[in-house]
Amino acid sequence: MIIKMTPGASDAQVDAVEERIRNEGYEPRTIRGVGMSVIAVVGKRPEYLIDKILSMSGVDQCIPIEKPYKLAARDFQSGWTEITLGEAVLGSQDITVMAGPCTVETREQLLTTAHGVKAHGAHVLRGGAFKPRSSPYAFQGLGEDGLKLLDEARAISGLPIITEVMEPGTVDVVQRYADILQIGARNCQNYPLLREVGKARKPVMLKRGPSVTIDEWIMAAEYVLHGGNMQVMMCERGIKTFENYTRNTLDLSAIPAIKRLTHLPVIVDPSHGTGKWHLVRSMCLASVAAGADGVLIEVHPTPDTALCDGAQSLTIENFAVAASDIARVAAAVGRRVPGFESDGTFVGGGSYSAVAG
Ligand code: PEP
Ligand code: MN
Repeated sequence: MIIKMTPGASDAQVDAVEERIRNEGYEPRTIRGVGMSVIAVVGKRPEYLIDKILSMSGVDQCIPIEKPYKLAARDFQSGWTEITLGEAVLGSQDITVMAGPCTVETREQLLTTAHGVKAHGAHVLRGGAFKPRSSPYAFQGLGEDGLKLLDEARAISGLPIITEVMEPGTVDVVQRYADILQIGARNCQNYPLLREVGKARKPVMLKRGPSVTIDEWIMAAEYVLHGGNMQVMMCERGIKTFENYTRNTLDLSAIPAIKRLTHLPVIVDPSHGTGKWHLVRSMCLASVAAGADGVLIEVHPTPDTALCDGAQSLTIENFAVAASDIARVAAAVGRRVPGFESDGTFVGGGSYSAVAG
């Protein structure tokens, strides 16, 4: 930490700051300039002193040198965090494609979507059962019944399931069914919930809050890691800006930023990031080009009848086009989408043991 004194701060003020630093067990190294003095604080993690020092007279700024997070930091471990999700390995060269409806509505809707996205290359099935809706009058999701349908869809399709958990008290029930626990944007800084999923035995996808900075988002991930759960992936889903053509502003620069600062995989959700289905494919391609490790795409067999987020949902046919294009961009940047050739041809698929009915 570096302390910058105000121009003209007195010797007595500089002495007082030095003494305070020594009393806290740190070593001050002071440069007494003609107009201004600067004090470097030597020792391990002195950042907790910032507010105390800032309250002293003659102090202008305290500039932290160390990052406020450690387990999430890039230098905490040598390689990337790897998380195996079905056929794809996050944190490797693989690009993981997660797709499915915003919310689980009916058995037929879910199984038709699961079948469709699997047939066109998805590795993970998404679907909300506990929905965080802005209005209390909007459809809130099917709850545990929705989880049971996801369980069935996984059994039939073989696709791992990602679904949101909204409250600390439901982490147990959600993790009984889910393969990945999604923390929604609205709960990005819900610390009791982050602590609870920190104890869970399933990977966690942490969505960025609409008004959360990169550092705050990483600190939120630090809660989960600190709880003992090291299987964390970050999900950029757009932030609030003045722009209102799109639902949110997808922050593509967050992808290389998170990858520079942390060892955690980055997923991008262009569905919530844009709110418009016709922008989703391009933003998937841009995300992969910018270094994302995966995408999360809302897909619905009939978006015009969707109970939630139809306007940003791809049809199964449009999902097929997007997935194939993602594979081509992935190949262009030295990555691969498991199941696809570099020219975008889908050669995977495996089996699907039943059809919706
Ligand atoms: C979702 O993915 O279902 C969702 C509600 O997204 P977000 O938390 O990003 O708004
Ligand atoms: Mn949605």
